[in-house]
Amino acid sequence: MRSMHKEPTAQQAKDIKVIARFTEVWCAGQLHSNQQQITVYPGMQPLTLCPECAAFLEYAAKKRLHCPLEAEKPTCRRCRIHCYAPQQRTLVKQIMAWSGKRMILRGRLDYLWHYFF
Ligand SMILES: [Zn+2]
Repeated sequence: MRSMHKEPTAQQAKDIKVIARFTEVWCAGQLHSNQQQITVYPGMQPLTLCPECAAFLEYAAKKRLHCPLEAEKPTCRRCRIHCYAPQQRTLVKQIMAWSGKRMILRGRLDYLWHYFF
């Protein structure tokens, strides 16, 4: 089990949990293989992700933990910086769109409600 060392703030932990959940739905739904349990910060509920998705989530979590706009943070979607590199930015859009649709179909509107509104 791998873990980052930095303790997140409550808001950071919440945001990371959202992207983690979307990534987990994506990973399982895309039938990725070699999944293992990972956490990205201490005390987090472990997630089941393949190595590629785990690497993506660590990237996303690291970006969130080092966000330079912490004080004025809007949702990442509305951010004026867009700190992701092009490759990860493309991937996160795919993940959010695909998993978001999945969660709507499964009635997991609570997640979307918190994230998008
Ligand atoms: Zn995966």
